[in-house]
Amino acid sequence: MKQKRAYKYRVYPTPEQQQILARTFGCCRFVYNWALRLKTDAYYNEQQRLYYKDVSERLTDLKKQDDYRWLSEISSVPLQQALRHLDKAFITFFEGRTPYPTFHKKRNKQSATYTSNAFVWRNGTITLAKMSDPLNIRWSRPLPDGAVPSSVTLSKDCANRYFISILVEEDIAHLDPTGKTVGADLGLKSFVVLSNGEVIGNPRFFHKDENKLAKAQRRHARKKKGSKNREKARLKVARVHARITDRRRDFSHKLSTRLIRENQTICVESLHVKNMGKNPKLSKAISDVGWSAFVSQLEYKAAWYGRNLVKIDKWYPSSKRCFDCGHVLDSLPLDVREWTCPECGAHHDRDINAAKNVHAVGLTVFNACGEAVRPGAVKTTSGKPRRSRKPSK
Ligand SMILES: [Zn+2]
Repeated sequence: MKQKRAYKYRVYPTPEQQQILARTFGCCRFVYNWALRLKTDAYYNEQQRLYYKDVSERLTDLKKQDDYRWLSEISSVPLQQALRHLDKAFITFFEGRTPYPTFHKKRNKQSATYTSNAFVWRNGTITLAKMSDPLNIRWSRPLPDGAVPSSVTLSKDCANRYFISILVEEDIAHLDPTGKTVGADLGLKSFVVLSNGEVIGNPRFFHKDENKLAKAQRRHARKKKGSKNREKARLKVARVHARITDRRRDFSHKLSTRLIRENQTICVESLHVKNMGKNPKLSKAISDVGWSAFVSQLEYKAAWYGRNLVKIDKWYPSSKRCFDCGHVLDSLPLDVREWTCPECGAHHDRDINAAKNVHAVGLTVFNACGEAVRPGAVKTTSGKPRRSRKPSK
């Protein structure tokens, strides 16, 4: 089965290309924010939901106005894609998976997406619309044989590094089936706790980096505003930040790949960001460790490699339920790390007990149906090809 997969590389644009990219990023950001304002206003003032098509038509009108001619100086494709990105942000918001979309800021990461009609792919090089020369890409690993990019996203992070993410379709072979299954829970003291008792990724893992970051931030704060030294210090902060993000992503990818390789079925608790915001402590912990990014990696890797990911409703009492006898506690404060069941006397580590419950209920759900039980509540992703039913004679 063909799967979409993104390959990311470092890019070294020429000064001229940097200028074109800077303008493109700026226009994309403008259009994104303009459309977000439009959608928000339409919703609040007229209780109306605007879709891509509506906003796209208004963009065409906007570009005709004299004050906005500069929007026509760059390729129109990334602007259309910015509208698509916003549409996606709204879809995940309405599904309760992400908070309400926010305005893009100049000082954050910048990006622009080009679909295949806005770049030329020739002899392993990529030339973007409005550019005369191909991009200087450092091919740290090869694209799969015969791959043809369907879209590319150029980005610039806060540390002034440029990247290209190339989307290709490729055949990914399923792994050999295994009988092993596992439950994974988001630990409070650690990143992931498995139902077999394994505890992975202590926050101290990143402690050194965080000390470095704090030091760089203090130095930055001491510099005079608007000075050259302050900009230098800002870049230093951004670089430490970038390294932390890179490391976490790397960690998350290695772990998700390992779990997918080792297990046929993986059960996790799904988190609803919407409800997480209510607990500031927890929401920080979650954003810090990037649980949702980790789960989405598990999700697409399960589909690639023919594994199953079972997501359990967050409202299932995984922490408060005794795995041994099924007794459910009335409450279990966040700071309680271990507890003893009043019913059967079993002593539990909070996170391991939760992971065991997630594992058990996940398997029950998966074996019972292998598909959604209640829409939006328990979702299972199965990489197994559907059995075709032959008509009985
Ligand atoms: Zn018990």
